[in-house]
Parts: sequence; C-alpha cells; structure tokens
Amino acid sequence: MAALPISRFTKITANICADVEGFDALAELALDLRSSWNHTTDRLWRTLDPELWELTHNPWVVLQTVSRQTLERLLASPDFRQEMEALLQARRHANEVPSWFQTTYASDSLGTVAYFCMEFMLSEALPIYSGGLGNVAGDQLKAASDLGLPVVGVGLLYQQGYFRQIFDLHGRQQALFPYNDPGQLPIVPLRSPDGEWLRIKLELPAHAVWLRAWEAQVGRVKLYLLDSNDAANIPAHRGITSDLYGGGPELRLLQELVLGIGGWRLLTMLGSEPEVCHLNEGHAAFAVLERAAHFMRTHALPFEAALDITRAGNIFTTHTAVAAGFDRFEPNLIRQYLTTYAEKTLGISVESLLALGRQNPEDAHEPLTTAYLAIRGSGAVNGVSRLHARVSRHLFAPLFPRWPIHEVPIGHVTNGVHVPSWDSVAADELWTEACGHDRWLGTVADVAEPIRHLPTAQLWQFRLAASTELVDYIRERLSRQLAASGVSQEDIEAARHIFDPGILTLGFARRFAEYKRPNLLLHDPERLLRLLNDPQRPVQLVIAGKAHPADMTGQAMVQAWLRFIHRPEARGRVVFLSDYDMQVAEQLIQGVDVWLNTPRRPWEASGTSGMKVLVNGGLNLSVLDGWWAEAYSPGVGWSIGDGLEHADIAAWDAAEAKELYTRLEQDIVPTFYDRDESGIPYAWVNRMRESMATLTPKFSTNRSLHDYLERYYLPAADAFRHRVADCQCGTYLHRMRPGRQLFDARRWAGVHFGASSVASHDGQRHVEVEVYLGDISPDSVQVQLYANGTAGGEPEIIPMERVRQLANAANGYIYEAVGSSCRPESDYTARVIPCFHDRAIPLEIQHIVWQR
Ligand SMILES: *Cc1c(COP(=O)(O)O)cnc(C)c1O
Repeated sequence: MAALPISRFTKITANICADVEGFDALAELALDLRSSWNHTTDRLWRTLDPELWELTHNPWVVLQTVSRQTLERLLASPDFRQEMEALLQARRHANEVPSWFQTTYASDSLGTVAYFCMEFMLSEALPIYSGGLGNVAGDQLKAASDLGLPVVGVGLLYQQGYFRQIFDLHGRQQALFPYNDPGQLPIVPLRSPDGEWLRIKLELPAHAVWLRAWEAQVGRVKLYLLDSNDAANIPAHRGITSDLYGGGPELRLLQELVLGIGGWRLLTMLGSEPEVCHLNEGHAAFAVLERAAHFMRTHALPFEAALDITRAGNIFTTHTAVAAGFDRFEPNLIRQYLTTYAEKTLGISVESLLALGRQNPEDAHEPLTTAYLAIRGSGAVNGVSRLHARVSRHLFAPLFPRWPIHEVPIGHVTNGVHVPSWDSVAADELWTEACGHDRWLGTVADVAEPIRHLPTAQLWQFRLAASTELVDYIRERLSRQLAASGVSQEDIEAARHIFDPGILTLGFARRFAEYKRPNLLLHDPERLLRLLNDPQRPVQLVIAGKAHPADMTGQAMVQAWLRFIHRPEARGRVVFLSDYDMQVAEQLIQGVDVWLNTPRRPWEASGTSGMKVLVNGGLNLSVLDGWWAEAYSPGVGWSIGDGLEHADIAAWDAAEAKELYTRLEQDIVPTFYDRDESGIPYAWVNRMRESMATLTPKFSTNRSLHDYLERYYLPAADAFRHRVADCQCGTYLHRMRPGRQLFDARRWAGVHFGASSVASHDGQRHVEVEVYLGDISPDSVQVQLYANGTAGGEPEIIPMERVRQLANAANGYIYEAVGSSCRPESDYTARVIPCFHDRAIPLEIQHIVWQR
C-alpha cells in the first residue's frame, strides 16, 4: 500500500543513552501503548525509576530520564535482561499471532478503516483527551488491536491538551495548562525515508499551514496525530493545535480543518487508501470533502460524482443528544476559510459547500452544521445507544422532511468499554481463572456462565479487597492534594486515616456539566448527612470532576460540593479528589461499591464510566438514560426516574433527588448491610455476580466493535467497492444519468397520485392506485403502501407492483398490492420513494411523495 515508501520512522535519538545496547528493545516496549492496558511491562519501568514511574506512568519518560549508568547496570543484569527479552518476544508474538478478525473473516473482506476523532483517551502518558468522546475513541482503537481489525486512528496532538484542575483555599477550581512536550510523549515523528519530517500542507487564506505528523503505537493499531506547532508557520497557526475545546469558533474550525482535510491528506501521503472512513462525531466531517477531492483527482470526476461514490464508505457516529450541542459555523467564517478550497480543490462554489451543511440548502444565512455535513457525506449514521438513536432521529428529522420519524436513517451501536483497560489486577486474576487468558480477544458470548458459577465468599472477598485498595488510594491522594493546597497539618494527617473499607462506598466522577446534575445528591443536604452518618449503616462518598473553565455553573457546582465537605458533619465521609483523569477514574471505578450517575434524560447519549465498574464488581445506580436505559434490570443494579422526559426542570430534579435518597435509604443501604452469619451480604453479591456476568460482555468494546464491523464496516466497504467498480468500467456517469433526476426537487414536484380503489374478495384485499411520475423514470422509484405502526411499533410497508401503463398519460401507471390485512383500509396510504443502485434511502436521496 506504500505509494511513498515511508521507512520505519527514525526514532528520536536525542537521548544520550540511545547507543546503549538494549536501549532499542526498551524503546520498542515503551512506545507501545499496549503496555498501558496489559501492565506486563510495569515492573521494568518501576525498576528503572520507581518514583518517576509512580508519578507519570509514562514508560517513555522513564526511559528518557534514566541515567546511562543505571541503564547500563540494569541491562547487564541477567534477570532484567531476561524479563526484557521475554516481554519483547511477547509483544512481537501478540502482534503476529493471527487475530480473531483474521481467523474469522476472509483477508479481503475489509480494507483499512480510518477512524477520525478530535480526542483519544489511551493512556495518562498521552493527555490528548477531555472525557467521554476520547474514551470511546481510545477504547475503540485498543479493541481494534485486540480483535485485529485493520483500523488506523487520526487525531490531533495538542500542545496542552485539556486543562488540569486544582483547588484554591476557597474551594474554587483553578485551571492549569501544562505543556505537552512531544519529546516526553510516547509518540514518534513520522519521517520520510531521507529523514525529513513528514509535513502536510493545508492552504488557508494568506498563509498555508504546515502540519507535522506523529505516530502512536496502540498494539497492532497506529494512531496518527497532526500538530501545527511548526517553525514554518505564522504564530497564529502554530497555536491551532494548542488546546482541546478551548478558544472560539474560528480556532475550532481550524482544528476541524486540520483533522478532516489534513488527516485525509496524511493518509494519502502514507499511501493508505482507506475503504471505510469512520467520523467519530461531527468534528471530523471535513474529511468527507477531502476524501471526495482525492477521488475526483484520481478518477477525473466532478465533485458530486466523487462524493456520491466515496459517501458509501463513510460512516458517521453522532454523540450529541441536543441540537445546541452541534458545532455550527457562521457562513462568513466558512467563506473566509473555504472559498479557495471549494473553488480550486473541489471545483464547486463555497455556497454549494455551505449547502451541504445546512438544513435548508437555499438559506444563505444559515450556518454550517458539521453534523449535517457529516450526514450528507455518509452512507450510514448511528447514535451511541438505543435511546440516543431515537433522540437523534428527532434531532435530524428536519433533514428528512415528510419522512416518518421511524425512517430517519439513524441506527445505533451502544458504546462499550475496553475491559482490559479498566479491570483491576485482582479482577484480571479472577476473570482469568474463570474465563481464561484470551477472553477479551474475540467475541465474548461465553464469559457469562463461568462468572455465574463464582462462589459467593470468593466474590465478597474480592470486593472487600477492592474497597481496601481504594481507601488506601484515597488517603494517599487526598493528603497530597491537601498538602499542596496549604491546609493545616492536622487536616493532612486526618486525610491519612479517612474512610473505612467496611463502609458502603458511593462514587461519582464526571464532567461537571449542568445536564449531568452532579449536585443532585446535594438537593437536600440534611437528608444526605443523615445517610452518611447513620450510626449502624453509614455511607461514604468519593467525588471527582472538572468543570470547563468557561462554564461558571459547572464551577459553582464544584464549589458547592467543597463547601459541603467542609461542614463538620460531613467530614470524613465525603472527599473530592481533584484533577479527574484516566488514572483517578481507574482507581475509583475499580474500588467503589456503587457508581452513581444522574444525568437529565435524554442528555447522556451513552455514558461509559458506569460500564467500567462492571468487570470490577461495582453496581450501578443511575438515571434511565443512555446505556443504562437498555442495561438496567432489577437483578443487576438500581434505576432512578420514570424513563420519561419532563418539561418542568425544577420539579423534575426535585422528584428525582427524592427518589435517589429513597432508593439509597430503603434499598441500597439495607441490602449492603444485610449480612449472614459469616458477614456476607448475599443479595448484594448476587446482584454483583449477575451484573458482572451479563453486563460486562454486553457493554464491552468486544461487542461494540463487532457491531460496528458487522453492521457498518463490512457493508460500507462492500458498497464503496461496488460504486468504485461502477466507476472503473467507465460507465459511471452514463449509468448515473437516470439517477441524477432523483436529486432534482423540481422533477419530484411533478409526481402525483390519481384515483385509487380497494376491493376485497376471498379474504384478500386488492389495492390499486394511479401514479403519475412526470419526468422521473419508473425504474428509479418504488411505490409502497404505508401504515403507521400500532402502539409505537414499526410501520407496516408493503411494496406495490407496477401492473400497467395508463393509456392517457405519458408516464402514468397503475400500481397494485394484494394482501390480507386485519387493519382498516383507512390506515394505509401510498407513497413514491426513490430507489436507485443501492443508494441508501432516505439518507442519500430525501425526496418522497405521499398519496395523502
Ligand atoms: C470514563 C471516563 C469518562 C466518561 O464517563 P461518562 O460516563 O461519559 O461521564 C470521562 N472522563 C474520564 C477520565 C473517564 O475515565
């Protein structure tokens, strides 16, 4: 696939130890992010520098920092040497052994899948993420490595990443932006064979931007990262990739252009020709333009044709649950940055480009919505949970006027988490014993049964040990946090003894955004205090979370918790850990008994943190939103809310807060403390077991990636190949001619129905309608009888057959359907929809004409 033969990248060898024999082997291990989830190499790095390793969990930093003397000494030690060699062998073996994908599918069933996302959460050592979206993307790449799918990731390398959080003495959040020194990140620059740094050029008005390219190794998978901090760039451009979700719309637009256009160009330069392009959220939408641009150039086609062909290979995953969450860019901003690109590269006007991102293409004032551009440029679209897909069908309904809401073409793949990244060492041992070493390297249908057979006492021991570990972690972290913020020695000392592993521990950690209602538990502080301080059955609560630096409401909510924690009655029972990140998340989800999630339905598109507790035996208490709306059953956890949305926000919050307290007081706390003679809470452990067995595999990336593969990647690759084949036999434009009419609204205005009749005999119903197709060929449409579903179910759709031409009309026909039906005939109406060469309807062609 190498058009341009890029050699193995030249390593960064500024390190003074680079010439030490054995350094290369360590570098190979340190640069593979697989070590961040399989943990087998941890011991090596700890041996090299225990303190630095604990502080950073970044093998590459450890290796860059270690002294030549230490390195030479260790490499001379047979034990160290042996361990290193074994790990190196294991790494190479893991990459070479045939994967689940390779052994299950034909080698030519799927070409490269390019996965575009604004953020990737892979490891603490690579802080280029903010939260949920990055989590999904990172876990997806890791799963692609485990299962062996041919995926490459494309993202941005931020000079600062997302902000870090500390608290001042008044409990206010302060945002810090430490510099991401690329030399200390586990990535290497992509260089051309002659050693020159690979650079991508992106033309912007007045000055081009040069983009540098980096590579991160995620097991078998590569992630390419672009950054604009190149000396050749004007200062304004050097900062395009400065930080994640900072700045205004202009910076965001530039970042998205770098990601989409720059990202596709990079792949092209590397000689990669992806069949499938997966846009993870609308930020990546511009990739569809550049993909089409590349196709136009290589096949000498106009833009519309190139987009029509490449669209089949594009998949758009939307993660947004409310219209206000979509990225929108003012027309003038788009005109400023994309006029030249539209005219010179795509050969269309910038107004035509804008139209692709508008609900109403004719409205010159409407901003460009990247999610709309992504939809218009994709052959399939999905949401990230069943409920979220339903919500998304409403959000995107305006793009499909006159189509029933059921048929707005948005499917779903519920998110999953990469289990090996989130299980504790003890959980890994427990599951390995029950289900074997390779349990997460394929499909996971068979892990439930062995977990169901785990003895109660063993599970409870496992849980107690996890609580103890968490309490140790909290004590250590909190005392450091307090020491840094300048509180008294007394308070620091108290933190070293805070919490009790025997007490029921609730955890809540997430972005402090209003819709997540991180303060729902604070609704009635006195009632919460009674819960925490119950003399027989106390509760302890650990919280973490950042509020975006521009979000004042979120920051006030953080402060409200810190004030509450300062109340003498809350002392010792509640802690707020600062700087929620992957490492904090990992500790919390591995140790809590109950994970709390309180979003305002339906804003939580999926949510993933609750999935991370599953493998570790934690239980979920959550609003019936996102993934929990489909995961919940009384045997596996607890729900809040009635599974509906409500208009009166204040009353709704109050009602759900009450329900939350009641659930804790009457159900969760008693179940936890209801012990048998050996001190085990049987009903609790039964829930744990059931949650572990049934939910862990179902909400893993093993399942979600398999869904993507079967429902999206393979069909997209197939559809794309068909269109390319059409194009290669040189008849594309000719063959498409009749189809072109289908995009023309004026032609559809001429389509109408005439008389119709219904007759019943022999229990069969015959329906006949006259259909006048005007300028549209009957071969390009389908006529159907349609009835709404009953009781919210799927609609009934019956194809009608063209039985004869009407004598008095040039393009009029009788269509007929015969069938039995118990529903009244007035439930049915006829319609004409496009039907052409496997185009996805209505995603690719939205026209429809109804009889009534
Ligand atoms: C898992 C995770 C998230 C996403 O969790 P939600 O359930 O979507 O809130 C965000 N941030 C970090 C650090 C995580 O580990």
